[in-house]
Amino acid sequence: MRCFSCGSTNQSQIKSLYGYNVCDSCEPTLGLYKDNTIRKHIASYEKNREAVPENPTYAQEVDYRVEAMEEFYIRRRLKLLHIQARLKAIGKQD
Ligand SMILES: [Zn+2]
Repeated sequence: MRCFSCGSTNQSQIKSLYGYNVCDSCEPTLGLYKDNTIRKHIASYEKNREAVPENPTYAQEVDYRVEAMEEFYIRRRLKLLHIQARLKAIGKQD
């Protein structure tokens, strides 16, 4: 396993976090929220929702953002992979 952020391969310090390998040094830099912070976000979100009840719940909004981010990530990655492939193809022509 290799930390996705710093590349460390010190296995004793690396864990899998939702499918990504991250080391003990990098984990605190991720800015992961504590439960109390998430509870505050829920409360704030629900308060705004009182005015517009048809809006998605906080959980639905988070689900939506994860999906949208994955699509964005794949689109950007495909674009770069295509450039990589074209660079190889163009290089062979020259
Ligand atoms: Zn790391």
